[in-house]
Amino acid sequence: MWKFESSRAHSKFMKKNISIIGSGFSSLSAACYLAKAGHNVTVYEKNDRLGGRARQFKAEGFTFDMGPSWYWMPDVFEKFFNDFGKTTNDFYKLKKLNPAYRVYFGSEDYIDIEDDIEKISEKFEKIEKGSGMKLKKFMQKAKENYSIGVTDMLYKMPGMSPLELVSLKTIKKVRYFVSTIRKDVNKEFKNPKLRSILEFPVLFLGAKASNTPAFYNFMNYADFGLGTFQPKNGFYDLVTAMVSLGTSLGVSYKTNHDLQKIQIKNKNVSNLIFENSEVKCDLVISGADYHHTEGLLPKRFRQYSENYWENRVFAPSSLLFYVGFNKKLKNVEHHNLFFDTDFDQHADEIYNKPKWPTDPLFYANFTSKTNAKTAPSNCENGFFLIPIATNLEDSIEIREKYFNIILEKLESYTKQKLRDSIIFKKSFCVSDFKKEYNSYGGNAYGLANTLFQTAFLRPNIKSKLVQNLYFCGQLTVPGPGVPPAIVSGELVANLINK
Ligand SMILES: Cc1cc2nc3c(=O)[nH]c(=O)nc-3n(C[C@H](O)[C@H](O)[C@H](O)COP(=O)(O)OP(=O)(O)OC[C@H]3O[C@@H](n4cnc5c(N)ncnc54)[C@H](O)[C@@H]3O)c2cc1C
Repeated sequence: MWKFESSRAHSKFMKKNISIIGSGFSSLSAACYLAKAGHNVTVYEKNDRLGGRARQFKAEGFTFDMGPSWYWMPDVFEKFFNDFGKTTNDFYKLKKLNPAYRVYFGSEDYIDIEDDIEKISEKFEKIEKGSGMKLKKFMQKAKENYSIGVTDMLYKMPGMSPLELVSLKTIKKVRYFVSTIRKDVNKEFKNPKLRSILEFPVLFLGAKASNTPAFYNFMNYADFGLGTFQPKNGFYDLVTAMVSLGTSLGVSYKTNHDLQKIQIKNKNVSNLIFENSEVKCDLVISGADYHHTEGLLPKRFRQYSENYWENRVFAPSSLLFYVGFNKKLKNVEHHNLFFDTDFDQHADEIYNKPKWPTDPLFYANFTSKTNAKTAPSNCENGFFLIPIATNLEDSIEIREKYFNIILEKLESYTKQKLRDSIIFKKSFCVSDFKKEYNSYGGNAYGLANTLFQTAFLRPNIKSKLVQNLYFCGQLTVPGPGVPPAIVSGELVANLINK
């Protein structure tokens, strides 16, 4: 029954046998960098498909991306492939969406965000006098912060020391670490619709706008300045591309490998115990949920206590629906936000008084609007997401209750009957996040980027107690989201290669 899958390194020099746990973007990225450096790399994934939260499934002729859908910060993806002498274009075609997205505030009351800052400024100006020019100034600052935060700093911050944050450029920006996104947006813009559009990118960071340093306004530049893209066949194109690159570099990928235990000898990982096999290796990186990975270690080798995790600010969990409609939908775009409700109350019910939202805001995408192949002909592919607190009790009844709420809103705001057109529906919620990804509290996208959970204040990328154990992904540096996950893989690989 038990078999050994690899033997200890044939390390004449620095070449190592490296095992990577999980196949999310951070793991896929680390695997490529380490294989390029000449190591033997194997990725072990518990589920039957690669890609982590970005898995895909097919049902009844529909193809659903299970997690990420907003392809922002295209420069990060491009840099990743450039590091291997490739471009994204070698693997998949990208389309810039116009409109980037639609924001509904009520029945037939919406704003389309177009693909160009001039057009967006004109729209702002029509809604609030003077706001067009203010937006351009705001974006200029956001662009500067993007250039410092993403282009200069992100790739140089493995979170090992507070000094990583200090440079001539960041010292000049101290104000942005003291103020918050909420304060800065409210200072310039009065209209509640414009305010909520400018606070929207914060959702990707997993925290409230009032709790997110203003420096992260670089996400506004990612939104309005760089734009929203879509890989031709959906987000899964990126998984396929990274796996194909890794395979060409010699990485091997093993699905249905659920890590159950990490054995330690002389303060080093000696063996990885999977359900039906045991692996020896020289070095381990876990891209699986950090809390879960530490739980597989003997207690004395865990760096963080349960109390530590309980006191972190986690990104929300989500109630998700994958829905197939037997007709084309009117009055929706590829990405649609439904911000008709009190942002603050919903946020309060996620972070401060965790409970099912009284009046949920939600997000919906219809990938078949831009790629007909994701649905059978004359059908529509719908994905719905309600952000919710972690650790909520979820049941079929609660899921149905919320499905009815959002379907009614969708029908009413877009002026069409949809209930009888549903031919496929699958939901995914807190208990699925726990079961399928071993996610702490059922979080959807990791540990929030608050001031006290930034850079060196995040869980360590390298274990302080086990010498050959490293971490990557959305619970360590730099944080939640696909671009940070890809950077996380590069950071851990650089640290190991050093
Ligand atoms: C619904 C949803 C929507 C999102 N939308 C966006 C978006 O639009 N844009 C964006 O940029 N980001 C988005 N995100 C966030 C983004 O998807 C994640 O931050 C990123 O994909 C996380 O990558 P990761 O490498 O940290 O790991 P994950 O994707 O979490 O992968 C970890 C892997 O480890 C595996 N694993 C766990 N335990 C074990 C074990 N014991 N043995 C073996 N394997 C194990 C899991 O099965 C999983 O495959 C979204 C996330 C979700 C859930």
